Formats: sequence, C-alpha cells, structure tokens
Amino acid sequence: MSGIAATLDILTRLIAFDTTSRNSNLELIAWVEDFLRERGIASRRVSNADGTKANLYASIGPDVAGGVVLSGHTDVVPVDGQPWASDPWTLSERGGRFYGRGVADMKSFLALALAHVDAARAAPLKRPMVLAFSYDEEIGCLGAPAMIAELAAQSNKPAAVIVGEPTSMKVVSAHKGVRTFTVEVTGREGHSSLPDQGVSAVMEALKLMALVAEMGNEARGETHAHFNPPGPTMTIGKVEGGTASNILARRCSFIWDCRCPEQAQADVIEARFRGAATQLDAEIKVRAPEGGVSVMRRTNTPGLAIERESAAETLARALTGDNETRAVAYAAEAGLFQRAGIPAIICGPGSIEQAHQPDEWIERTQIEEGAAFMRRLIERLSA
Ligand SMILES: [Zn+2]
Repeated sequence: MSGIAATLDILTRLIAFDTTSRNSNLELIAWVEDFLRERGIASRRVSNADGTKANLYASIGPDVAGGVVLSGHTDVVPVDGQPWASDPWTLSERGGRFYGRGVADMKSFLALALAHVDAARAAPLKRPMVLAFSYDEEIGCLGAPAMIAELAAQSNKPAAVIVGEPTSMKVVSAHKGVRTFTVEVTGREGHSSLPDQGVSAVMEALKLMALVAEMGNEARGETHAHFNPPGPTMTIGKVEGGTASNILARRCSFIWDCRCPEQAQADVIEARFRGAATQLDAEIKVRAPEGGVSVMRRTNTPGLAIERESAAETLARALTGDNETRAVAYAAEAGLFQRAGIPAIICGPGSIEQAHQPDEWIERTQIEEGAAFMRRLIERLSA
C-alpha cells in the first residue's frame, strides 16, 4: 500500500473513534497499540489517575539518543450544536477534500505517522522515530506532561519534537502560552432595594471582570515580533451567578483566560489579578464575613519560544525547505517539550482555520505533502 492509501485507511479508523475530550480515548489507544504490536513494536501507556484516558508512546528503530518525536493529541473538540453536512465520525471525501472531526486537528498527522511505521521499520534507521500521542490537549494540555516527563528522563533522550498541529506543513517556531482561571465570588443575599445590607456577588465580580478587560486593553499596545495579535490577550469565557433581579446575588463565578507570548508577562498579569482579588476579598469580608473571593488556576500551558538554532528548528527547515519565522496565537504541546529540555517546533498537515469548525476538512494535497515529509524524515534518520 502506498503512503497515501495507508494514511487514509488509518485516518478512517481514527476518525471513527469519538475522542471528544470529555470521552475516554482508550479505544483509540488500544487500536494503536494493536497496530504497533502487529509490527513487533512495544508501546507504553501513561494513564490518567482514574485510568480512563491514556497517552501512548513508542519508539521505532535503534535504542539510542537523538530520536525525533512525532507528537500529536488524540482528542478532538465537540461537534455539539454544529451543522455538519455529513457524519463527523465518518471520513468522507468530496471534491478533493476529506471531511470529519479531527481531520485537520489533528488525526491526519497521527495517521501519517502510523502509516510510515512500516517504512521506518524497513529503513536502516540510525536514530529512532518516536511516536507520542496524548489526551486532553484541547482542554488545556492536561495529558501530555506526564508522558513528556518520561520521555525527557530517558537516558536515550530524543533530540527534537515535531508537534503536528495543522500549519499547512509550514514551520511554526513559537506559540503563546495560556493560563485559565476560575474565579468564585461569594456575597450575602438580601433585597435588592437595600444593597448595603447584603453583598451582591455579581456586582463585586464585575470589578474583577472589569480588571481583566482593562488589562486586555492595556496589552493591546504590546508588540512581539511574529505574533498576531502581537501581545497578550485576555478574555472572559463564562459567567454564572445570581437568582433574580430583586435578590442580591450570593454567588457569581467566571472563567477567564490569558494568552501571552512570554511567560514573564503572564506572571505579571496573574500577580496583578491576584492582588486585586485579595483586596476585594478583604473588602467583602468586612461586610459579609462568610463571603469572599477565590481564584483557582485551572491550566497553565507554557508558550514555545523561538530557538533559531535548535535541533527541531534545523530539522524542520531541512525537511520542508521553509525558512520563514512564524508564531501562532493558539497554545500547543510544543512549549511543554521545550520546557522539559527537548527542542520542539510545530508542523503538520491541514489548516488551523478548519480546526474546531463544522465540516472540518483537509485537502488531499496536504496529506500528500505530509507523506513526503515523513519519507524525508525517515531518510534523514537513516543518514
Ligand atoms: Zn490541536
């Protein structure tokens, strides 16, 4: 079977697993384990605490340092409420495009990697090709850290990571980091005609929400080469609270996120927010001792910083011929690898513009480019 036919065959199987992040990914992982086992390749699961989800990694080739990791997440975003023209869990082809949830983000990359396992086994590899498939990427890169820690602790540590998020096979050298927070404000109920006899949690939470908006506006002036938008961004994604127009709300909670080109900026923004929250907490407690503010950081995904001379950068440039410097605003797992001491870049088939959309698609030509990339990688690992 050619690389393309094998890739499409595997992609059909991968798309059929509904690996929306809220579901277990174990059926997909078991399928990949079998696929590798049939080829004599041992793989290792790194499971979550309750065993309902797992990362999987495997090495093909000699057990030496200097391997190249092909990294991808197995989970996908929900299709709830989206108008799809065809079943999102059935790969379908229309007019040179393949449709299905995850075809761009990012099961085509996983399929390409698996479809080239046979070629890698047949090649005289001098350094290993390492597959690293994660879970829960879409809800804050929660799964990968445990697997990355194992990979980074190996005596035969890999030299470079290619994270196959959809970049239309261009090399992306940097991504923003993202932190998300849940903020809970508790007040005291009362009649809204006597606002000073209680504490409206909604009215108090508004002050902190205004601070998020204010910090976001201030950051608009900041420019970081290659990023678009150029500086940090902050948004509030969800607000809940209150009971009725004439009741002072006892509870109000909101979730916000902060996306920064640099980790240090996120530290400053988080510290300023926490300072304001601590002050508001004290003010509320004066009027309602049982009330207050709590701030919980839900996720903290580090950004990927540009490392022009890294092994990952050099490798990806050689494989693609792409010499431009690009940065993306979304977060990915590349920053986690970099922070663990394994250089990483992002390069994968399909476009981020189709990711998370109804009728998510990928062009056949992107699969073809991806297959050529895998063949060149295997050649390079054999040199
Ligand atoms: Zn993705």
